[in-house]
Amino acid sequence: MEYSDSGESTLAALCSVTQRSKDILGFARFPLAFEGNVKCSTCGDESKRFMYFSIVDEVELKTTKGSANFVHFCKFCKRENFLSIIPSSVMSYNAEDSDAFKTIVVFFCGGLEPIDFEPGFGFVVETGGSGARFEGVDLSDGNWENQDELSSDAVSISNLEFRLIKK
Ligand SMILES: [Zn+2]
Repeated sequence: MEYSDSGESTLAALCSVTQRSKDILGFARFPLAFEGNVKCSTCGDESKRFMYFSIVDEVELKTTKGSANFVHFCKFCKRENFLSIIPSSVMSYNAEDSDAFKTIVVFFCGGLEPIDFEPGFGFVVETGGSGARFEGVDLSDGNWENQDELSSDAVSISNLEFRLIKK
């Protein structure tokens, strides 16, 4: 790669996860996708709208060999910047992670950095013991509550926060 400022950017999540039984409750986004603003590392230009990065997208790079999950041409300096989700970095956030930041994904960035993140909807929440699965969960406002119909336990996610850490 010819990018001098390639690096990794970590997205960490923090929230309280509760369930009355001691079963694990985990959530992850599936298919794995994120929305955020990006900033060009060369000229500092920031995207004005949220960009969508998905692990299932494969975009060929035009100015160098290879492909990435997300490619962005900077309007100002005209560079081709890219971002890929590192598949082995993807972790679910579980009940035992409650109230602490945990890395849930690492992005490999070439010439850009994600600067803002929007959780949105499309998350999958799973309960450990009964195996109940909730799809399309909306975590936009950082809170979610439901009832596990198999075990009749109340399950909730509250005060969800994210932060991006540049390595
Ligand atoms: Zn630029």
